[in-house]
Amino acid sequence: MPEGPSVRKFHHLVSPFVGQQVVKTGGSSQKLHPATLQSLWLQDAQVHGKKLFLRFDPDEQMGSPGSHSLPEFLQQGAQKEEDVDPELTLGSNSQKISAGSTPSTKSDPSGFSAPEYLGDSPTAGGRRWLQVKFGLFGSVWVNNFSRAKKANKRGDWKDPVPRLVLHFGGGGFLAFYNCQMSWSPSPVVEPTCDILSKEFHRGQAMEALRQAQPVCYTLLDQRYFSGLGNIIKNEALYRAGIHPLSLGSLLSSLKLEALVNHVLEFSTDWLQGKFLGKQCHTQIYQKEQCPAGHQVLKEAFGPPDGFQRLTWWCPQCQPLLLPKGPQELQGS
Ligand SMILES: [Zn+2]
Repeated sequence: MPEGPSVRKFHHLVSPFVGQQVVKTGGSSQKLHPATLQSLWLQDAQVHGKKLFLRFDPDEQMGSPGSHSLPEFLQQGAQKEEDVDPELTLGSNSQKISAGSTPSTKSDPSGFSAPEYLGDSPTAGGRRWLQVKFGLFGSVWVNNFSRAKKANKRGDWKDPVPRLVLHFGGGGFLAFYNCQMSWSPSPVVEPTCDILSKEFHRGQAMEALRQAQPVCYTLLDQRYFSGLGNIIKNEALYRAGIHPLSLGSLLSSLKLEALVNHVLEFSTDWLQGKFLGKQCHTQIYQKEQCPAGHQVLKEAFGPPDGFQRLTWWCPQCQPLLLPKGPQELQGS
């Protein structure tokens, strides 16, 4: 799943379409039925953690278009935005994609959904927000479709199929790939937990980290660290010199504070880098050696009942903190 910074970038790509009417729809989504979006107006776009929320109204007048959660530096850089997928612009394939295929007039690869669909109306009962949750390779494309980067095993070049395509009155279109979409009454607005929000509450985060469980579990808990994913987890732990399995309850406030600082710093740098077309530079994630030249270890860690996530750490730079002694444990 793309982490907070990627979804912020998607939000940024979608924002120019706020205030426009959907004039044509397409896409393969079975659950959503893209045709139900026909003629609706995109009235708002917000990002919360790793989810993108788009508000659609049947009328043009409703609501004030805006980009509530867009940090200032994004708004400043808004004009520079390109119409290509943010993830791909970072890779070496981007040139091939734009140069190899002249802007195609080929029809929408997904075809269009039947307009007679009458189920689950998006605007019924005030469920006006389309919630978009991106998969690992999820992306948003503007005025362009994603192209096959290589042939499949059978030698066919098959372009990815967008889940949803929205053509707007202004002439442009958005294509959403690899994502889950559903209608929701309103976005879950908890900016105090969003690592990229100005309102992020550090005290609340520290409190969560103090739990007697491995800090690498707490960091990925979206209730406390919305937008934080596996890359940020690994990088922040390394930079703070904390072993991923250290119990939060054993770490000093100073250590935990450093961890929160690194989470925020790394996420913000990553996001800013995205807008400058820079790749996210990791020091430990998917590395064999840490910057100090030590051998890096890799293992899947996660709560017993939860998702196990690959974790990279340097046993020398991130020593495991053990309880001081069995007596102390018994005494507590
Ligand atoms: Zn090291």
